[in-house]
Amino acid sequence: MATLLLGFDVERIPGLNPPDDFSRRLLGYVVDESLTLGFLQALQRLLAEEAAVATLFIAGMNAECFPEAYRVLADDPHFDLQQHAYSHEPFKCIAEERDDEMQTRVFRPCLPSQAVFEDLLRGEQAVTSAVGCRPVGLTAPFAYWRGLGDQPLVLETLWDLGYRFVRSYGRTPTDYQPLPVDQAQPFRYELQGFSGLMEIPITGWHDVGFKTRFGWEEVARFADYVCGELDRLAGTDLVWSLLQHDWSSVQYDENLTVTRSILRRARALGWQVLSHTEFYSTHLDSVGGYRTGLVSSF
Ligand SMILES: [Zn+2]
Repeated sequence: MATLLLGFDVERIPGLNPPDDFSRRLLGYVVDESLTLGFLQALQRLLAEEAAVATLFIAGMNAECFPEAYRVLADDPHFDLQQHAYSHEPFKCIAEERDDEMQTRVFRPCLPSQAVFEDLLRGEQAVTSAVGCRPVGLTAPFAYWRGLGDQPLVLETLWDLGYRFVRSYGRTPTDYQPLPVDQAQPFRYELQGFSGLMEIPITGWHDVGFKTRFGWEEVARFADYVCGELDRLAGTDLVWSLLQHDWSSVQYDENLTVTRSILRRARALGWQVLSHTEFYSTHLDSVGGYRTGLVSSF
């Protein structure tokens, strides 16, 4: 049975993320500083109405801004609350080569390795303090080609801190997207010595990448893309960890109609919809060892 994992990176950090100049360039205005609160309320209503579960990967600095909101969600069974590092700086350098008309190139330098460990620990403390229990899952900021398969010390730190799944693989060999759903599937970091640590790749376009490429105002276009992929892959045994973000999903869609239509289409087509923690708990034994896929397509 095909499986959809709904995930949101919750990462609006006033003054830092998304950066004001980036936001102005993308949207023509600076994203509201307290937008996370409206997003969380809209998502809470939607998940209750649809009887669905979603995983929030919360940036530590965001958790520090809105602790009361997370305390409310901690008791809500429709939420699976996990970590998205502290300051949203990348753990690995990214040299993105887009295949758009402008042939856009973006380089994002990574944190020095000691700073990666400090950022992880601070994120861990901030999220634990906001939600009242320790996270077991992490989305690594910006995601990377090959995930953390070449970062054994980060994997070891995650394992020692109690992390059991990570979303860190979300880019093609040109550091762009989309990573095809049918070519990048969950695996265990067995080759690196952590067979209990699962990678759940972020596949397909995520909402920010799609809208940056194809436009922000026509929100139905992203829904159409996702629903088209749900149609195409229905009936397979594939897993799709779909990524949206707090600050982007409510632009021109404050009631999250896109997420509602995705959920309804998935269920109508027979997809099971699970949280990331549910997926880890029930599928660790059926997931294979480290493989990045894409070998035959590049
Ligand atoms: Zn992020």
